Amino acid sequence: MTQKGGHPDGGDLSTDRAGSAAPVAGGRYRGRMPSAPDVLHRVFGYAEFRGDQAEIIDQVVGGGDAVVLMPTGGGKSLCYQIPALVREGTGVVISPLIALMQDQVDALEALGVRAAFLNSTQDPDARRLVEQQLLAGEVDLLYLAPERLRLDATLSLLDRAPLALFAIDEAHCVSQWGHDFRPDYLGLSVLHERWPDVPRIALTATATDATRREIVERLQLRDARQFVSSFDRPNIQYRIEPKNQPLAQLLQLLRTEHAGDAGIVYCLSRASVEKTADALVAEGISALPYHAGLDASVRARNQSRFLREDGIVMVATIAFGMGIDKPDVRFVAHLDLPKSVEGYYQETGRAGRDGLPSTAWLAYGLQDVVQQRRMIQESEGDAAHKRRTSQHLDAMLALCETVECRRVQLLAYFGQAAEPCGNCDTCLAPPEAWDGTVPAQKLLSTIVRLQRERNQRFGAGHLIDILLGRDTDRVRQQRHDELRTYGIGTELGEQEWRGVVRQLLAQGLLAVNSDGYGTLVITESSASVLDGSRQVMLRREPERVAKRAKRTAGAELPETARPLFERLRAWRADVAREQGVPAYIVFGDATLRGIALTEPTTLEELGTISGVGEKKLDAYGEAVLAVVAEHAPQPVGADPAEPR
Ligand code: ADP
Ligand code: ZN
Repeated sequence: MTQKGGHPDGGDLSTDRAGSAAPVAGGRYRGRMPSAPDVLHRVFGYAEFRGDQAEIIDQVVGGGDAVVLMPTGGGKSLCYQIPALVREGTGVVISPLIALMQDQVDALEALGVRAAFLNSTQDPDARRLVEQQLLAGEVDLLYLAPERLRLDATLSLLDRAPLALFAIDEAHCVSQWGHDFRPDYLGLSVLHERWPDVPRIALTATATDATRREIVERLQLRDARQFVSSFDRPNIQYRIEPKNQPLAQLLQLLRTEHAGDAGIVYCLSRASVEKTADALVAEGISALPYHAGLDASVRARNQSRFLREDGIVMVATIAFGMGIDKPDVRFVAHLDLPKSVEGYYQETGRAGRDGLPSTAWLAYGLQDVVQQRRMIQESEGDAAHKRRTSQHLDAMLALCETVECRRVQLLAYFGQAAEPCGNCDTCLAPPEAWDGTVPAQKLLSTIVRLQRERNQRFGAGHLIDILLGRDTDRVRQQRHDELRTYGIGTELGEQEWRGVVRQLLAQGLLAVNSDGYGTLVITESSASVLDGSRQVMLRREPERVAKRAKRTAGAELPETARPLFERLRAWRADVAREQGVPAYIVFGDATLRGIALTEPTTLEELGTISGVGEKKLDAYGEAVLAVVAEHAPQPVGADPAEPR
């Protein structure tokens, strides 16, 4: 059982291997085409396909085109990696994420797959070497930046190499309306024109119909089969809470639930990124900033540390995150309101790609609504553009203010039905709906009176001061204590009033004036509230969702397996550091959990754990068994795992 590299399992994996150490991947199986399940088991070490993977792979292996919409973490990469290994020739992967290509190639090489990339970061010698390997048929997967396809040299290089397929990753970059638009993606129609017989597979985690249609049109994929997965991410817990003291709320989340975990904190502006990162560092948290205003080298260094070190918190604008395939991001926190549900879903989707429990947390307040409405009004775009961005905001607000399951609401936005999930804040602590008609009338009539009687407009703060009957400088100067509505709102506190204003804004019963000062005005719909013909139902915030136990990767393991899990993580960190690769490239958390739970004592046993393929068994099998053996008392007698 100590033979190296053999898969001693004897099951359907044994194909034509005579116990040789030939790498399966990289591998043409000498004249014989491996089957897709073979590759799944032997290269990736997984027991079965997930969701639509098998069908998608069949389609592409058979030479057909495919458009794949699958949520982040759904397993898109296998959909092109396996066909590339099964079909003759090289699979060419078009990806905009140059900074991540090295990691992608490292991850494949760790599996024994022959992978390479061509992009502008390479020096000419390195590029020439890759070109030679490609022409010699020694590359299974080649990652290519889209701008390289504009070069004649690249086109003629690909002409001379046998090609298995084209995979167009992050295919939504072709959409001119999306915030990830890349002009070079429009040039990808060349693939079909120049190589009509090479199958193409376009993949994205963007879920809307509009994006799918644009991908199909612009990439000439009208005859492609379309695969739309469920967009549910059951392991992500969605929570949205009112923003009172954002930093304190964030710290509470980090300390009580995610101490030592890797996560992303999104902020709207560069300035708030810097400020928040500094504040977290001052609180002893390993936080790093990331935004487009930082020097490229600083960005690259921070991204690399986030990927390679354990437990880094990245504080970032939305410039960060696309294509980051770090599987153990345990939380994504938003300190400002995202501009659309699509954006929110993409960003939160970066949590928990490994399928383990993770948190998506958002704090949002009245100021977010006012600010974003203002930004829309002041934007350069034409009327149609403003209408669209404001619809996006409305949908996001509706998600924030819902009294129903967040997941049901999210999936409905993407046209998918679901049952209440039991794993979001509204399911865990259902908020009450309350009749806010009277407070709404008090607020609206204050606004109307100020407008009619004084021709004045004010922002939320002063309106609330009036309702609460406060004695402020402005109240005195303006003699607002003489208004009929002065002091009539003492049944609610300041925070509750802010909640009322926020929700009226969200429901379109109140609007931000276009004067650029954030003053509030009534809308056409307000009249029906004022005359009592319309009831206003509001959401009462429940007490904070009861404090949960820590939700780190090891947390849900039985007590007895935890020490071994931690030892395996320490071992993995050493190996990763030695090899200069991110830890997850060695083994993912899910695999380490599997090992900690089963405590394998032989290579066969280890080989059956999800995520342990032949190459990794070969490279790390003995070392892992040694870690396990050290942990458990060794049985007397023949122990194949005995460290040498
Ligand atoms: P996506 O690109 O869709 O965001 P990935 O391709 O990165 O997702 O896959 C997410 C995680 O799930 C990875 O760690 C991957 O290895 C794992 N995975 C994918 N397919 C399977 C499968 N069939 N069985 C077990 N794990 C899988
Ligand atoms: Zn729910």
